[in-house]
Amino acid sequence: MLITLKGLVIGQRIIGENSCFLDIFTDKLGMIEVMAHGVKKIGSKNSSACSLFSHCVFCVSRSSRGYTLNSAELICSFHGISSSIEALSLAAYFAEVIKYCATSEENHEEQLRFVCMTYYQLQKGKLSLSLIKSVFELRFLSRIGFMPDLRACRECICYSHDRMYFLPLEGVIYCVDCFDEERFEQNSFVLDNTLLHAMRYIVYSDTEKLYNFRLSEKYERLLGAVTEYYLLAQLNRGFKTLEYYKNILL
Ligand SMILES: [Zn+2]
Repeated sequence: MLITLKGLVIGQRIIGENSCFLDIFTDKLGMIEVMAHGVKKIGSKNSSACSLFSHCVFCVSRSSRGYTLNSAELICSFHGISSSIEALSLAAYFAEVIKYCATSEENHEEQLRFVCMTYYQLQKGKLSLSLIKSVFELRFLSRIGFMPDLRACRECICYSHDRMYFLPLEGVIYCVDCFDEERFEQNSFVLDNTLLHAMRYIVYSDTEKLYNFRLSEKYERLLGAVTEYYLLAQLNRGFKTLEYYKNILL
C-alpha cells in the first residue's frame, strides 16, 4: 500500500554502503521509521530529500516489515542547522524528545508545523537558543497530552497576582495567598507576571505566533529553568542529548 505524507527527517542511520533508515516525524502517522534503499549512492534522486532536517512530501509503501521509501520531494531543508554545533545539538535534543513522545498512527499535522517552525528558527539563528528551547519544551509537551493549566489559581481562580507559584509535577498554578509551602512538598517555581504571561503565550497562542515574542536575558534564563524542569518531571526521565547540549554551552 502506498501512502503520501509530509514529514521532517529527524534521524538517520546508515545501513550497509548505500542505504539508510530514516526517522521521520510525519503529519499523518506521527513517528515512523522508513527504509531508504540506495539513497547514499552518488546521483540518487532521493538523496537530498533524505538528508537530516529535510522537510518533504514522502511517498512510502507499507508492508508487514515496515515502511519503505518510494519517492521524496523536498519542500525545504533546515540543513543549515549543522553549521552551528550548539544549534545542532539542540536539534538532536528536540529529535530525541519527539521520538520518545510522538506516537505512531496518529495525526500530528499541527505539531509537524510547529516542529518545522522550530527547526527553521534554529537554522535562522536570530532568536536565542535558550528561547527556542523553552518554547519547544513547553509547547510540544502541551500538545501531546501534558498541557499545564495556567489559566488561574487552582484555589481562588484569580487570573493574575504579583506572585504565583507553578507546580511542575501537577502542572498547575497557585497565587501567593493560596499557596501553602507545607502543603505542597514538591518543587515549585515562583512566577511573576512577565514569566506567567510568557508561559501562557507559549501554551495558548496560535502556532504561527509562537516565535513572535521576546524576553530579556534574565527572563529567558528563568523561563528555561521552568520549562526544562517541567519537561523532565512530566516525562520522568532524562535525555542524553540534553546533557550534551548543556555541556557544550559550559
Ligand atoms: Zn489563589
